[in-house]
Amino acid sequence: MLNRLRSVDPEIYQAIREEVRRQQVLVELIASENFVSQAVLEAQGSVLTNKYAEGYPGARYYCGCEWVDRCESLAIERAKQLFGYDHANVQTHAGTQANMAVYLATLNHGDLILSMGLASGGHLSHGYKRNFSGQFYKAVNYGVNAETGLIEMDQVRKLAKEHKPKMIVAGASAYPRTIDFAAFGEIAREVGAILMADLAHIAGLVAAGLHPSPKGHAQLVTSTTHKTMRGPRGAIILCTSEYAKKVDSAVFPGLQGGPLMHVVAAKAVALKEALSPEFRTYQTRIVENAKALADGLKRRGFKLVTGGTDNHMVLLDLRDKGITGKDASAALEIAGLTTNKNLVPGDPRSPGETSGIRLGTPAITTRGMGPREMDLIADLIHRVIAAPNDRRVRKYVREQTLDLCDSFPIYNGLLRRLYEQEQDAYDIPAAGGTPVEM
Ligand SMILES: *Cc1c(COP(=O)(O)O)cnc(C)c1O
Repeated sequence: MLNRLRSVDPEIYQAIREEVRRQQVLVELIASENFVSQAVLEAQGSVLTNKYAEGYPGARYYCGCEWVDRCESLAIERAKQLFGYDHANVQTHAGTQANMAVYLATLNHGDLILSMGLASGGHLSHGYKRNFSGQFYKAVNYGVNAETGLIEMDQVRKLAKEHKPKMIVAGASAYPRTIDFAAFGEIAREVGAILMADLAHIAGLVAAGLHPSPKGHAQLVTSTTHKTMRGPRGAIILCTSEYAKKVDSAVFPGLQGGPLMHVVAAKAVALKEALSPEFRTYQTRIVENAKALADGLKRRGFKLVTGGTDNHMVLLDLRDKGITGKDASAALEIAGLTTNKNLVPGDPRSPGETSGIRLGTPAITTRGMGPREMDLIADLIHRVIAAPNDRRVRKYVREQTLDLCDSFPIYNGLLRRLYEQEQDAYDIPAAGGTPVEM
């Protein structure tokens, strides 16, 4: 495994091996990350990377596309089946490019969009001033209630009526509650706006029927394939037949040249996995685990934005703890828990500091952890945040997180196999990883 790479480029080999180690020995709580299946990795690491395939299945600009056509057609069919839309485009390289393509397909330069503000949990590509979307288009933002943390549809309606946006964007990067696509759809119809649903975070839940679908409400849907969807890094666009041609020509030749066919094939694999009953079970566990984590944190005196969660995500409000999100996430990382700092509604601190932390359960659920481990993780987070500079606490928590990671190996013990292969078996750190500097 990786033997050729190891002899050709030992530096990159080492970086990859160490990344395998990092992923193995840390408790991954970043809400947007996951571990893809071996099958997805194999498709993405395949010879399909050699093929140029500008155009779409059956209408390419290059010869020799019969097999990549097959891959892309399967991905398209599966995406349509999974989400129930008329049309799918599976070529965009990332979520941001998918949003870009939808804007290019439907808006003119300077048109107005109504979207969730970045500080309330929206995404850069929803009109943030330093992103292309805020430079090419005008954006008005709805937010969340500073007390409840909830989106208020009355505010969305009021802003929509006042500003008459060409498009309303529904979707978020940091919102732990259900998004009411039906209510967004109603408002969009009232003001004659197009509705785009950005499912980047919640696509897996939607696919499994655990979050309401935007179908019948949003004409256009974008989603990443690498978050709860657990596929390769990339994105898909879904739309009603009315927008099919416009979306396809916005992606190619509008924004991209050749698609990444190895990634398209890996998307097809992930979509096939997402159509299976096991995927629904997996998504159900993600949500159960998020609830268990939220409950465990609340019982230990933490304040949560919105008081809990409906999805895969928990937002900790640390304002009453006397620690910033930045310092809390740094202390947690040393103790073996990977998270990210996050603004909370009405946050007095800057985005670089923040008063909150975002946690998510997709990755640890993939590893097989359940409610018992969630309660342990809540306990460990509590210990670290109660005493972020206490070396004994850090050491204790690091030992616990290492044990946890040992009990739930990734890729069938890939790290161990790599070390063994290097015939440095005696170098295997006892607890499955090199202890972090205390
Ligand atoms: C993650 C995310 C994206 C974009 O994803 P990239 O693949 O990083 O470009 C878009 N929208 C939302 C709401 C997201 O959370």
